[in-house]
Amino acid sequence: MGTSTAYHLAKKGCREIVLLEKETFFGEGATGRCAGGFRHQFATEIDIRLSMHSIRMLERFALEMEQEIGFNPCGYLFLLSQEEDVEDFRRNVELQRRLGVETEWVSVEEIAQLVPLVNREGIAAGTFCGQDGLADPSSVVQGYVKGARRLGAMLLAETEVIDIEVRAGRVRGVVTSQGRIQTPIVVNAAGPWAGQVGAMAGVDVFVKPVRRQMSVTTPIPQVRADLPMVIDFAQSLYFHREGPGILTGMSNPDEPPGFDQTVDLDWQIRHFEAATLRMPILAEAGILNSWAGLYEVSPDALPILGRVAEVEGFVCINGFSGHGFMHGPICGLLIAEEIVDGSAHTVDINSLRIERFERRHDLREYVVV
Ligand SMILES: Cc1cc2nc3c(=O)[nH]c(=O)nc-3n(C[C@H](O)[C@H](O)[C@H](O)COP(=O)(O)OP(=O)(O)OC[C@H]3O[C@@H](n4cnc5c(N)ncnc54)[C@H](O)[C@@H]3O)c2cc1C
Repeated sequence: MGTSTAYHLAKKGCREIVLLEKETFFGEGATGRCAGGFRHQFATEIDIRLSMHSIRMLERFALEMEQEIGFNPCGYLFLLSQEEDVEDFRRNVELQRRLGVETEWVSVEEIAQLVPLVNREGIAAGTFCGQDGLADPSSVVQGYVKGARRLGAMLLAETEVIDIEVRAGRVRGVVTSQGRIQTPIVVNAAGPWAGQVGAMAGVDVFVKPVRRQMSVTTPIPQVRADLPMVIDFAQSLYFHREGPGILTGMSNPDEPPGFDQTVDLDWQIRHFEAATLRMPILAEAGILNSWAGLYEVSPDALPILGRVAEVEGFVCINGFSGHGFMHGPICGLLIAEEIVDGSAHTVDINSLRIERFERRHDLREYVVV
């Protein structure tokens, strides 16, 4: 979010942009630990619209940014086993198709053809979108880092934000581990740490960090090169091809909020029991690598975007709830529009402003994995 925002601000002619990163390298946070999936298959119109724009930007990325990102539209296949999910996903497919996304309803027989290695037991139906797929998150970050620097932005690693100065309801400056920067505008792009950075400005951004983990297996020669991302929705269990092996993750619904990024071995055992039932070939592979990262969870699983009315000059790009890699390109552009043009306009973000939490609202994204 930070590198995309810096790049899009610079591209719009904005000068004196500084991006601050507390770690040694950019992209070591949630982005560097994510599964790299992009999809149009959401339940809310706003998430689908963000995906439509963002995925087009990822598709053109290599050309525009001179950085290969392994863009691979291998498709996303959702497996549905619960009656209520079947009903909900029927509505989602209708909505996606109305907006121009080519999602298809697939039968169990069609699932067998698409993914012969998957055990279909308990599966009632599925949805498939061939415009969904995978890209490499670190390459996207590096592309934006290089692009932003080329256009004159200053990107500083090993520089932690430790305070934000607010006087008379306006942002005045940022205090960092390397010194103070005077500025009228601060963009909070701190991902899972957004709550801490918001608190420095006296703003509750409603974002909680929640651990999620995954593993990559040793090579499995039987896995086809065109394996789509497969998601067993009821179990929040997913698989995709990673090099010659499989990357698999499963979200623990009981994981408490917190900053712990160590691998929970008990959960890993439960994950692999479920994963091996759904894809039995996994029993023949070893685990090459496992890691954990943090989702940045908002109360309605939708992003929090734009200026904050409470503190002038404080701008949010937060709360992506586990699907922010794919929305990084468009959201960085929207925040640049918000700052330079006065308001985001490529996509209407009024339903995503932080002030929505002051009133009752029904909008919620539930296709979260
Ligand atoms: C296991 C896992 C799988 C995922 N899979 C997918 C997927 O397939 N597709 C998808 O779209 N999304 C996925 N996500 C979600 C995605 O990773 C996030 O939504 C996205 O990366 C958020 O980007 P960000 O820039 O907001 O946060 P980050 O990448 O975390 O960047 C925030 C940066 O702010 C820095 N920072 C924090 N506090 C400070 C401070 N005080 N001073 C200076 N710097 C600071 C951090 O070090 C960090 O580098 C996944 C996430 C996880 C954990």
